[in-house]
Formats: sequence, C-alpha cells, structure tokens
Amino acid sequence: MSIKENIDGILERIADVCERSGRNPDDITLIAVSKTVNADRAREAVEAGIVNLGENRVQELTDKYEKLSDTEVKWHMIGHLQKNKVKYIIDKVELIHSVESIELANEINKRAEKNNLKVNILVELNIGEEESKFGISEESVYDFVKSLEQFENINVLGIMTVAPFAEDPEEIRWVLKKMKVIFDKLSSMNIKNSNMKFLSMGMTNDFEIAIEEGANIIRIGTAVFGERTYKEEE
Ligand SMILES: *Cc1c(COP(=O)(O)O)cnc(C)c1O
Repeated sequence: MSIKENIDGILERIADVCERSGRNPDDITLIAVSKTVNADRAREAVEAGIVNLGENRVQELTDKYEKLSDTEVKWHMIGHLQKNKVKYIIDKVELIHSVESIELANEINKRAEKNNLKVNILVELNIGEEESKFGISEESVYDFVKSLEQFENINVLGIMTVAPFAEDPEEIRWVLKKMKVIFDKLSSMNIKNSNMKFLSMGMTNDFEIAIEEGANIIRIGTAVFGERTYKEEE
C-alpha cells in the first residue's frame, strides 16, 4: 500500500471511531511520525495531505526541516529532548510534546526568550510506570505544571503520554482514561501560562481507543509509513 492509501485508511478509521463515540473528526489532529523515515517518504506524506510531522530526535528533525522547507508542514518534537539540543529546534517546532523536567522547561524558556518567542509545550506523563520510560508521574503532575508558571515564554497547552504497548490495546484503556481525568483536572485549575487544549495520546496500536477516551492529537508512525526498518534510539 502507498503512503497515500495508508493515510486515507487512517482517516477513514478516525471518521468511524468519531462517529461511534460522538466526536468530531475536525477536532482530531493527526501527526504522522516520520522518525527513521527518509525525507522523500516524509514528503510523500505531506503531498498526501499530512500537515503535521512528528520526530523524536533533534538531528532528524532539523535535517528533514531543511529538506521540506518548501512545504507548509509543521514539526512536532515528540521524543526525549536533551537540554543541550533545545537551541537547534526552538524556532522550528509547532509543539514540544515531551517536557518532563523543570531543567528542560527552564532551558526552553531561556532559548524562547532569546529568540523572542512563545513556545508551545505539552507535559509528558508516565502512567504505565514502566521503568524505561520518560515522563512525570500522576502524583507530581499538578505541582509540576504549577511550577511552570514562572516561565513567561512557555505556553503549556496540554499533556502527552506514550501508553505501554499491549497486544490487546483494551488492556491499556485505563491509562488513556486516566489521562483524560488528569487533563480535565488541570483544565479546571486555572494555572498561569497554561491553557489545556491538547491531549496527545494514541499511536498505531491504540489510536481508536485513545480517541474514544478523549485524545485530540494522535501520533501515528507505523500505520502511515509501514514498519520501521531499524529501531530508533532513545
Ligand atoms: C514512534 C512514536 C510514535 C508512533 O508510533 P507507531 O506505533 O509507529 O504509530 C508515537 N509517539 C511517540 C512518542 C513515538 O516515539
């Protein structure tokens, strides 16, 4: 199947799940995750109608950013971000999904200020509590978002998670449900510099359940581009 056919298939599945669960497909942003995929294939996705691309490594993001600079595509940083690399992407990204430490937020704020920018971020949560994964725990997320009030050049626009992989995604529905509860609670807290607009969750294996549970950004790699031929590094 071509990338275009894959995307059309995903859009159809989004429309179906929205229909079933009383959601509006226009409220769902599809990010095609182009990590490990070359720039030509990323371009193919853009030509097939993709408006948002996600990357988890700075080098790959900046590389494809250059190569696709003639397009209107928006870039999302969705992977672990090292402080010393923030400077390379600060003026290139629509949204940083993976903020999970005060030190990283501080660096983003500093670089944003230097560039005279307001940078949009999401706070990454770790709900499945897998040791190897990044993200803030449920217990600490409220204090964490409040601690971001000090950063005038950051807009906190929501939360993100990578749910644990499960053969049967029904097994992790509780994670996605919990994310929505946290999202709603944060929304009701009226925290300065925070405006809870985006709930970023759902990947190839679980995006339909994520939409049922309230996701409005889904990040899909495999179902758009096919199986990755080499494993991405952390
Ligand atoms: C790779 C990745 C995705 C996409 O995963 P697929 O299972 O290939 O759809 C989504 N989010 C993050 C953070 C990723 O690293």
